[in-house]
Amino acid sequence: MSPAGQRGLALLGTLLLTACGGDDPRPSVVMVVGDTLRADKLSCMGGPEGLTPYLDRIAAQGVRFDQARSHAPWTLPSTASMLTSLHPEEHGAGGRLGRFTKLDAEVQTVVRTFRDQGYRTHAIVNVLFLDPERFGVTRDFETVDQQVFETNVDVRAADATTRAALDWIEANGDDGPFFLLVHYFDPHCVYAPPRAFRERWAEPGDREGEWTFGTRPQMVAIREGELSPAAATIRRAEALYNGEVSYLDAQIGRLDDGLAARGERDDLVLVVTADHGEEFLEHGGFEHGHTLYDELVRVPMVIRAPGQLAPAVVETPVRHIDLAPTLCELCDLPLPDQFLGRSLVSLAGGEAGAPRPTLAHGNMWARPQTSWTSGGWKLIVRDGVAPELYEVATDPAEQRDLAGSRPEELARLQAELEAVELGMGALKRGEEASLDPRTREVLNGLGYGGGRPR
Ligand SMILES: [Zn+2]
Repeated sequence: MSPAGQRGLALLGTLLLTACGGDDPRPSVVMVVGDTLRADKLSCMGGPEGLTPYLDRIAAQGVRFDQARSHAPWTLPSTASMLTSLHPEEHGAGGRLGRFTKLDAEVQTVVRTFRDQGYRTHAIVNVLFLDPERFGVTRDFETVDQQVFETNVDVRAADATTRAALDWIEANGDDGPFFLLVHYFDPHCVYAPPRAFRERWAEPGDREGEWTFGTRPQMVAIREGELSPAAATIRRAEALYNGEVSYLDAQIGRLDDGLAARGERDDLVLVVTADHGEEFLEHGGFEHGHTLYDELVRVPMVIRAPGQLAPAVVETPVRHIDLAPTLCELCDLPLPDQFLGRSLVSLAGGEAGAPRPTLAHGNMWARPQTSWTSGGWKLIVRDGVAPELYEVATDPAEQRDLAGSRPEELARLQAELEAVELGMGALKRGEEASLDPRTREVLNGLGYGGGRPR
């Protein structure tokens, strides 16, 4: 063959490889969301020693954001904020018990951005609120592997979720860069860790046996004020929750090892975060979805991007809305105008940058409320109740309400929040999700219908 012919063949080969994604230089993204994974349970963030060795390993290899916050204390609005870079009232997904709202049709998700730029996109999710049709949050993924159960007991456990993720990567990982969302339902209640994790982390009297806590009837009774579990019961429940966290940690480690075994880790961007935390009586309550204190809205957030981000710990407060712009920058994708967050790449690299105050709202149950975290302080406003003010920099447990004694800080945060809410006015969204009778029945059975579970 002539040299020109050989060059032609080589060019054709390159074109074919590019068309198949074989030598596309852009990194793939795996975004891991641990449902209900409290930030301060990670051993590297002050959690029990030895509870999360794999998450600690990933955190040490990546950038760990020590003060990352979600924008809502439950799955639907929070996950939507991660994927849209908007607050719950702006993207519309959320609502309250018995009246849920879906992601607004005009809102651009980061998944759409990746897909439009030629990425394969796939989601593995384990909760009805991440259903693509009914609530819209995952609607832009090319494929969604969804397993929804009618109770919180029979769920796809973390080992099966990891298997599904590794199988998908094995089947699709050679077809060019991909964006994969892996949602683990563990450690959401009911707390029922596998035996080995129960034996290691449960309270001594619970290491054998099957005792558990957080069934839907119990949750509804607590919401209705008919059940006030004793502190000792909640301590036992929290020990089981720890077992669930440790089990999740082991499965995230298995996923990470699987990525390494495939050679995927060389430039792959790995994000690990949670949609919200969990309360164990820190402010008199239990579970999540009912307040905006940090046990519910402070979340773990680690971004590992080899070759792009050097390992670091960032103390500057950051937000879930900053995730989508960060992923766009790391993968060299155009940024949709609609995104409100700002990329974390320069901050991760040590640049100071402007502060990033955090707005949170969107309770699923209990009194509607809004929080504004700014400059080391946090304001919480609820209908019909005096505002609360905490100096989170010195009182991270938010136990000393300073609204009465620091009027200047209270006024500053109130003015900032008012300005933000005024600016949001025209953007407020929230179309009621039209749910078929069967979905309503399932939600009611799970205790999310605003009525009694069966
Ligand atoms: Zn959740």
